[in-house]
Order: sequence, then C-alpha cells, then structure tokens
Amino acid sequence: MKPSHIEHLGIAVKSLEQAIPFFETLLGTKCYSIEEVADQKVRTAFLMCGQTKIELLEPTSEESTIAKFMEKNGGRGGVHHVAFDVTEQGAQAALDEAAGLGIQLIDKAPRRGAEGLNIGFLHPKSTFGVLTELCENPNKK
Ligand code: ZN
Repeated sequence: MKPSHIEHLGIAVKSLEQAIPFFETLLGTKCYSIEEVADQKVRTAFLMCGQTKIELLEPTSEESTIAKFMEKNGGRGGVHHVAFDVTEQGAQAALDEAAGLGIQLIDKAPRRGAEGLNIGFLHPKSTFGVLTELCENPNKK
C-alpha cells in the first residue's frame, strides 16, 4: 500500500454549529461543505488544510458510532479516524492488500462515504488503536 497523502482527519464533535467557527479561525479558512451521511448517522463538515481535509463529524443519533465514540471518551469529542488517499491503487485493491497482510477489516468492500468517495475502514485492533480509513476519489481517476 502506498497512499498519496492523508486525505482527511476525522474529528468527532458534539455540535457542528459550535465547532465550525473554531476550526475556521484555527485554519484561517471557511468550511466549504456540510453533508449528512444518513448511512452513518452523522452530519459532516469539511475544511481544507493544505491538501488534507478536516472532517468534523456530528452524530445525528444515539446509535451513531460517533455518539458511541464520544460516550467512551468521557462525553467529549476528539480525533476519531485518519483517512489515507489510495485513489491510485483503488479502495478495493487496498482493502484486499490489507486483508492479505492479516489486517482485520471493518469493510470487506468499499462503500460510499461523504463527498462521493469510495471508503473502507480497517479495524483499530489491527492498526495500533487508530481507526483507519482508506479512500478512493472516483473523480480523480
Ligand atoms: Zn472519514
């Protein structure tokens, strides 16, 4: 596997309304997209930092994995996952390679994530505790 860069960093927040102005000030840039991903029961907001995005994730339901993450984290948000860009190799090929290396997968096949990316997650048990996302941008191919 040879990701080209960190595509985004996923940060869990209780409230996008509260978090967006802070990150806009911190990064000196405006949030350019807010999107609900019904599938994952989250609302996401994106800001650019160089070629890396910051993805803010707000749970829309108690059932959301983001809500559960915050519960475990003492009710606070925090860094939730890191996403690597594997567009060159392709998400399916990257997941297959990871499986071949003995890495436990959350997604055996890519699914549709925010911004139309094809994404798949590796289990943190196999990645030193870091929830790892592999993403492929079909528009860059
Ligand atoms: Zn993500």
